[in-house]
Amino acid sequence: MKFATKLLHGTSCFDPATGAASTPIYQASTFHQADLDRPGAFDYSRSGNPTRQALEDAIAVLEGGERGFAFASGMAAISSVFMLFSAGDHIVVAEDVYGGTYRFLTKVLSRMNIDVTFVDTTSLAEVEKAITPCTRGIYLETPSNPTLKVTDIAAICRLARSNNLLVIVDNTFLTPYYQRPLELGADIVIHSATKFIGGHSDVVAGLAVTRDKELGEQLYFIQNGMGAVLGAQDSWLVMRGLKSLKARLDVSTRTADKIARWLAGHPEVKKVYYTGLEQHPGHLLQARQASGHGAVLSFDVGSRERAKALFDRVTLPIVAVSLGAVETILSYPATMSHAAMPKEERVCRGITDGLIRLSAGLEDADDLIHDLEQALNSLENLSFESKEEAYSGT
Ligand SMILES: *Cc1c(COP(=O)(O)O)cnc(C)c1O
Repeated sequence: MKFATKLLHGTSCFDPATGAASTPIYQASTFHQADLDRPGAFDYSRSGNPTRQALEDAIAVLEGGERGFAFASGMAAISSVFMLFSAGDHIVVAEDVYGGTYRFLTKVLSRMNIDVTFVDTTSLAEVEKAITPCTRGIYLETPSNPTLKVTDIAAICRLARSNNLLVIVDNTFLTPYYQRPLELGADIVIHSATKFIGGHSDVVAGLAVTRDKELGEQLYFIQNGMGAVLGAQDSWLVMRGLKSLKARLDVSTRTADKIARWLAGHPEVKKVYYTGLEQHPGHLLQARQASGHGAVLSFDVGSRERAKALFDRVTLPIVAVSLGAVETILSYPATMSHAAMPKEERVCRGITDGLIRLSAGLEDADDLIHDLEQALNSLENLSFESKEEAYSGT
């Protein structure tokens, strides 16, 4: 089955009990047990719920894994997966992971005596150098946010295999439609299903898929033990979004590509980050390990003043901290996703005060370009370097 068909028919596309074309929302906390000696398939909804199960089975099939799990948010999925580790363990983590992941690792997991080293995972040598006798796992996010740096998943997995380490990949930006890390050798894939998988800015959810059965059992034990499960209603919403994943991403990716190429030629734009552009350093690697470049791009307009002027002028995109929705979303990493990062560190990673992230939605691409054009043209009289930035670093 091709991916598009799998989205609809990878698991049962109707309710086996009634034939309903949409999985019913089993709004029940507990389940009657007819025979004490022979427990039913479900007993209590933290431990298992048929609606959640349908979503968990669907994501496992799409990622090509053994077992899927649905959590109350992307962060619930991420923090639960990190509970696979124990005190004394060390984990190598991509330096530009999602802000919430960074906060969880540095402020919560660190209290459990689990040690983390952040490295530039685009360099295999850096990753290798960071491995110690206590290292148990490598955690990746590729392409990274917001400058879309690409990590070679298969190469990292080979390195991990020879050191007996788990590889965990946050696949939120590309989804299994474009990238399937388990097929490249990873052990666990994680999603913030709040983004492209849900796709409609109406639900917060997280997913995880394990490659093998044993890891699946360990993660199930943690999911049930910690209890950060996704409710039945939200599971249904995620499944509803999932059905149109390919159709949405096909359109949004085409639009992102068109906008990126147009921005790259605009005189008011200093730099564009999109892996679909041939000049992006990760372009070839991305083309090799994924089947698409996705709907997220970033561009630098030079200064905070100019970024603010653009935000004030655009009318179509919503300005928000999320991505991966039917509507185009613009965000400002310097004060949104990366506010907690010291400015010097942030700028060093390309997350300047002029950087804007765009997640393309389903609007007409030309309408979006016209809107961005009128906003960019209004920057003409604002100099590229603000005074504050011109003096920083001296
Ligand atoms: C949003 C996001 C998360 C966190 O997911 P929530 O659903 O907000 O908890 C994790 N990783 C990435 C890459 C994200 O974009």
